[in-house]
Amino acid sequence: MHVGTTAERPGSSYLLVNLTAAVSPAGRGAPLRGGDLSRLEVHEPAAIAVVEGRIAAVGAPDDVKQGHADLAAVDCRRRVAVPGLIDCHTHPAFGGDRAAEFDLRAQGADYEQIHASGGGILSTVEATRGLGQSGLERAVRRHLGWMAACGTTTAECKSGYGLNHEAELASLRAAAGASGDPIETSPTFLGAHAVPPEFADADAYLDMLIADVLPEAAGLAEAADVFVERGAFTADQAGRYLRAAMQHGLAARMHGDQFSEMGAMELAIELGARSVDHLEATGTEGVRRLAGSEVAGVLLPVAALQLRRPMPPARALIDAGAIVALATDFNPGSAFCHSLPVVMSLACTQMGMSAVEALAACTVNAAWVLGRSDRLGRLAPGYDADIALVDAPDWRFLAYHLAGADVTGVIKRGRWL
Ligand SMILES: [Zn+2]
Repeated sequence: MHVGTTAERPGSSYLLVNLTAAVSPAGRGAPLRGGDLSRLEVHEPAAIAVVEGRIAAVGAPDDVKQGHADLAAVDCRRRVAVPGLIDCHTHPAFGGDRAAEFDLRAQGADYEQIHASGGGILSTVEATRGLGQSGLERAVRRHLGWMAACGTTTAECKSGYGLNHEAELASLRAAAGASGDPIETSPTFLGAHAVPPEFADADAYLDMLIADVLPEAAGLAEAADVFVERGAFTADQAGRYLRAAMQHGLAARMHGDQFSEMGAMELAIELGARSVDHLEATGTEGVRRLAGSEVAGVLLPVAALQLRRPMPPARALIDAGAIVALATDFNPGSAFCHSLPVVMSLACTQMGMSAVEALAACTVNAAWVLGRSDRLGRLAPGYDADIALVDAPDWRFLAYHLAGADVTGVIKRGRWL
């Protein structure tokens, strides 16, 4: 063992030493519900053995060193290791920005005024279509780099700002092509995000998506997503689109209960969707239904904050036994935030979640939503060596230090970013 090296770019096998602690959701199962969201495994102090990109051992320094005396040691300078964070709901494939619209909204402008000023989702669609394949690839990589700097090692990436054959597929190719550089991606086909202006009605647009885009999208994406809301798609339309997507082998997800309960929850449960996301408008009955199902509720507090909407009922969902995950919803219109630590902070201060629950919701349960909980979301032997290093005396600085920059080291499959 070559003790004392501080090089942060070793090969894919090494020993992380001088960790104040290694902190991870306890156990091996997924998804986590209820009290299991609060169980933490803590080694203090700790060392972690990484062998060929996977965690071989985590525990007390002497124990870990003993079994891996051949590995080079990397001094972590008294930082705390947590699992690499997993963002299971993001929209990184877009062009342009909506800063002017943000400012108008801050001054009280309503939807009509924003639309009249040239803002809204269709302004992003226009800018996205204008980027082309290489521009979209640059945009996605840039946005993934921002996420990685905050400790995210895996991100779902939705299309949904192209809304035509060419730009939807270009968005998915950009998301799939970026995987592993710098972080892992899970592409989702969100062609049914909004009805583009060249279509007179939603059904005609869905017909085009199902016939012309879905067959190719299914080769690039892992899931399909649809926005169930007034002015977007009804639950019936969403069901038609998602059933077609599932026949192509895609998992089903949906944006639901953001502004109103339109039947997204019932549809998600009926279809066996991976998740229903948002839930700001979910009432008592919806909470009960979700808790009795195998569908995850993905909560997006930044969208609620930036749109001045009520926060989703996280406490009620967890207490009822629902599968709860957290995500940024990173997008240019309603949630321009790429930081999961900020989301964890909002979960604790605005939604009544504990820091441990927030960590589990954007590690183990987020991995489960993305179909990766067998190898991602924990610091445990056999899992990928996806690790965030927190330069603070306590891992809870992730949530406690609002918009802090305490993540100072990020490792993906053993590779230092
Ligand atoms: Zn979204």
